[in-house]
Amino acid sequence: MIQVEHLSKKFGDLVVLKDITIEIKTGEVIAIIGPSGTGKSTFLRCLNLLDQPNGGSIAIDGVNILDAKANVPKIRQKMNMVFQSFNLFSHLSVMENLTLGPIKLRGISPKDAELKAMELLKLVGLAEKADNYPDELSGGQKQRVAIARCLAMDPEIILFDEPTSALDPTMVSEVLSVIRRLAKEGMTMAIVTHEMDFARDVANRVLYMDEGLIYEEGTPQQIFETPQKEKTQAFINRVRSFTYQISSPDYDLYAMNAEIENFCEKQILPKKTRHSLLLLVEELLQIYTPGLHGTRLDLAIAYSEKKETLQLTLESSGEAANPLESNFLPDELGLTIIRNLAEDIEFQRVNDKNRLTVLMRKTL
Ligand code: ADP
Ligand code: MG
Repeated sequence: MIQVEHLSKKFGDLVVLKDITIEIKTGEVIAIIGPSGTGKSTFLRCLNLLDQPNGGSIAIDGVNILDAKANVPKIRQKMNMVFQSFNLFSHLSVMENLTLGPIKLRGISPKDAELKAMELLKLVGLAEKADNYPDELSGGQKQRVAIARCLAMDPEIILFDEPTSALDPTMVSEVLSVIRRLAKEGMTMAIVTHEMDFARDVANRVLYMDEGLIYEEGTPQQIFETPQKEKTQAFINRVRSFTYQISSPDYDLYAMNAEIENFCEKQILPKKTRHSLLLLVEELLQIYTPGLHGTRLDLAIAYSEKKETLQLTLESSGEAANPLESNFLPDELGLTIIRNLAEDIEFQRVNDKNRLTVLMRKTL
């Protein structure tokens, strides 16, 4: 359906897309992931000509859309885009937002456009908001209206650019559910997202973008479980990490533990591993806590599915000293527990900070 070959794009001297070649077939759901600034948005914007590529070709059903004679509004309609920031017309009602394009650009009668709009609002669960204005809606509702507006143009493919990034965490799932439903109904979609679990279960192909290229592509299983290239591996490992900042001895232990539990749940870690991890963190923090006045402690936990290990990193400011070798250790027992749970403990001085790295094995 869409054939992209050797696509390139630069802004002044900045080469953002070097050489992108990809084919998207009808009915495919493609997730595009990667660090920010690697050209994911630019790629989508080039596809529907919001940005003009510098080289290469894009063909839809065999027709080159970079041709000077191409009908740009028609192409944008075929490849309609949903943005992070909704981009609804704030002076128009929800209904008017949905009918404007079909009436003006597709020549559909107002009556038919309204019937279709109502049907689409039902699909996204917002039929009762037809007469409301965007300002009267929550973020999740606005994004669902934006999706309905996009569908009103009868696109052949929908391009989503981080559709949930601007939303409150509580509203992410209502938008993802709508996208999942479209996927089930066979809609062709390319979705730039940071929601890895979502990417994993909705996409049939995942593109990892880096260095101006589609650096690695594969099935969700291949990219998330057995990435082949170094940068993909590093990215996947990084998104699998948990970080927490502690800046006072009175930090909220319960909130932190809840976040760690949540992290473990996402990584599908067994119960025993969770308990060991929580215990390890607790014992480590007991050692750090007395010294936490006016300093900061950064805790990071990264899970490597491949190695089946959890790596805890504790970084603290202050004079060079290994906290586990301090003369003021509260109790020997804590230290013994840490030594038993950890497979390896390493102390380093990095950038004027004390870094303790503790490796723990996943236990079943
Ligand atoms: P991503 O979506 O992966 O975060 P973008 O496609 O938004 O990345 O941006 C890629 C790079 O191109 C960034 O360095 C960004 O600053 C730059 N860029 C994007 N749009 C423009 C523009 N209109 N003018 C100049 N630079 C731009
Ligand atoms: Mg972007």
